[in-house]
Amino acid sequence: MYIDSTYLQRENNNIDDIEQLFICSICEGIVNKPVQCITCQNNFCEHCIKEWDEKNHSCPMRCAKYSFQRNICFENFLSDILLFKCQKGCGAIIPYSKLEEHLNITCPNVNSEDFRQKFEDLSFEFEKYKIRFDTKKYTHLKLTKNYENLLVENAELQTQIRAYQNVNEELNTKLFFLENEEDDLQRKNDNMLMEQDLLDEKIYTQLDIQKLNRDNKILNRKNERLQIKLNYFKDMKKL
Ligand SMILES: [Zn+2]
Ligand SMILES: [Zn+2]
Ligand SMILES: [Zn+2]
Repeated sequence: MYIDSTYLQRENNNIDDIEQLFICSICEGIVNKPVQCITCQNNFCEHCIKEWDEKNHSCPMRCAKYSFQRNICFENFLSDILLFKCQKGCGAIIPYSKLEEHLNITCPNVNSEDFRQKFEDLSFEFEKYKIRFDTKKYTHLKLTKNYENLLVENAELQTQIRAYQNVNEELNTKLFFLENEEDDLQRKNDNMLMEQDLLDEKIYTQLDIQKLNRDNKILNRKNERLQIKLNYFKDMKKL
């Protein structure tokens, strides 16, 4: 909505000095729902700058870099200092924040045809938002359900992970015992090999003894034969 500055109540406020601050340089009325260029800090009406940006893709002050944001702080400031005479002539003095509502709806001089049209427009807007809301609500429900399913799935996976961790721990314990067993077996094997060596040695000694016994027997027999011979010679000598 274009806000004509001629209806501004100037009597109570010393606003002439700062008037250029709240004039929209696009429509040259008073800024309605001020939007500020972050670079040059100029304020424009929301509907003016929207239309401008769609056509020109730039800031009206030719800022090299530009982006726009609603200037709520400034809007609150204007609500505190600006008062208007009703331009439909009902005699009411209206604060900045209520001006649009007064001129469109609450002023007694708004004719009923205007009001009906406004009502129809608003009903149409309402239906549009309701459809959008219902769609969003449906999406939201779907996402919530998905999220809940994911939570359940996640809980199941967590349980599985814990189960796998337990199995893994058991396997690690078993592996530890098996490694110990392997060491024991290795030691036993070493001992048996050593015993085998000792036994082999003993067997060799046994064989040696057997051979010595055989040699001894042979020598004994030789000795016996020599004794016999010796006795024979002794006898010969006596004769
Ligand atoms: Zn404007
Ligand atoms: Zn700018
Ligand atoms: Zn009025």
